[in-house]
Amino acid sequence: MQRALLALAPRLLVVLLLPAIAPLTGCASLNQAVSNFNTFSVEEDVQLGRAAYQETLGESRVLTTGPGAQQVQRVTARLVEAALVDAPAFAQDFPWEARLIDAPEQVNAFCLPGGKMAVYTGILPVAQSDAGLAVVMGHEIAHATLRHGTKAVSRQQILVGGVAAIDLVLRGSDRDPEYATAAALLATSLIGLKYGRSAELEADRVGLITMARAGYDPREAVAFWQRMAAQGGQQGPEWLSTHPSHGNRIAQIEGLLPEAVAIYEAVTAMP
Ligand SMILES: [Zn+2]
Repeated sequence: MQRALLALAPRLLVVLLLPAIAPLTGCASLNQAVSNFNTFSVEEDVQLGRAAYQETLGESRVLTTGPGAQQVQRVTARLVEAALVDAPAFAQDFPWEARLIDAPEQVNAFCLPGGKMAVYTGILPVAQSDAGLAVVMGHEIAHATLRHGTKAVSRQQILVGGVAAIDLVLRGSDRDPEYATAAALLATSLIGLKYGRSAELEADRVGLITMARAGYDPREAVAFWQRMAAQGGQQGPEWLSTHPSHGNRIAQIEGLLPEAVAIYEAVTAMP
């Protein structure tokens, strides 16, 4: 598998689609336009996410029974319903799905473009509760509804992979002998993707409101990030890729808590 990837690498390391001009400009509206730039259609989000998901689950030990698996289904179902209240309309048609992967060393979770999610068992002890897991998955679901994955790929922040692999997955056939290699490369790239600092803070913000609306106490987000900070070097790639320090994240969350707590209290006061 590694050898096959290496053999294919020269053809897959393809030129960029658009220079990363955002850091060169001081103009907020241009920065906004660049951060929303996306060369992919919503249907392609779904297609790429599905291929990467199949590849990842195929190589993982998926747990379908037991309290952890039930917890993942229970929490993600409530979060998706809450997220769709103010998510863009296209997210209604995403093939939302979540699985628990047995990997105690992985303190991580992801939501691919198009809504395919996975939680690694290693993050459950840090999450501690349904509310703690809702912090993680509210954030991950926001990455999908905000289309951060294909936006990052459009800005050429994808390090491994490249246009050829994406093209093969989108327009090729899964009977193509190179399809599996391309899908594997895509999975590695999408799951290890660096979304960037502003996307991470945006996912924190949207995720916090989502968890509150789903009836999970948003104050748990501060406690969760404190536990993640205490984990130090054991964080998974999604959290390592985040540029905001835990302190910055927590500061933003604390600023948003009055609004989030009000939503949470209104939701939990309903009969
Ligand atoms: Zn993130």
